[in-house]
Amino acid sequence: MEHKLPQLPYELNALEPYISKETLEYHYGKHHQTYVTNLNNLILNTEFENMSLEEIIKKSSGWIFNNSAQIWNHTFYFLWFTKNWTKIPWVKVLELINRDFWDFNNFKQEFTKQSVWNFWSWWTWLVLDNSWKLEIINTSNAQTVLTMEWKKPLLTCDVWEHAYYIDTRNSRPKYLENFWEIINWDRIEEMI
Ligand code: MN
Repeated sequence: MEHKLPQLPYELNALEPYISKETLEYHYGKHHQTYVTNLNNLILNTEFENMSLEEIIKKSSGWIFNNSAQIWNHTFYFLWFTKNWTKIPWVKVLELINRDFWDFNNFKQEFTKQSVWNFWSWWTWLVLDNSWKLEIINTSNAQTVLTMEWKKPLLTCDVWEHAYYIDTRNSRPKYLENFWEIINWDRIEEMI
């Protein structure tokens, strides 16, 4: 089975000025695409050849795991942006945020702090745990919440430098400021 780069639900310039067309050309068009190309090459004539991406992530290790998990993480990241910016969460997700983080601003601060100080990990996630409580967690390298026991991901932020170096250079806090502007809260509302 050939894995494919997912189509974006927006044009490459649709997230400007928050994420530039050039960043998407590299981050989506080259980095994300490379993980897809690598995986297709790595699984040829192996037991993973006909598995879905999720199955591969759960059953593999090493290079195959790294590339498949990075495809899944990047898809989760890119597909949770929208050009129809609402900038604030909808009813159900806002209720959970208010319950578990006091209010939306406090939640944004907490998530931003986790992302900005995320030195040894590369992804910051908002997840629901098995008691339906919101939690912010970091994962290292290509590690993904997909393989964790009952953590339902709602949102992720890629904090690898390639995600922001073109747009905000060394400033991860500025990247996070931009990140909050373009999140598809409709999509997250539908997941709860
Ligand atoms: Mn990335």
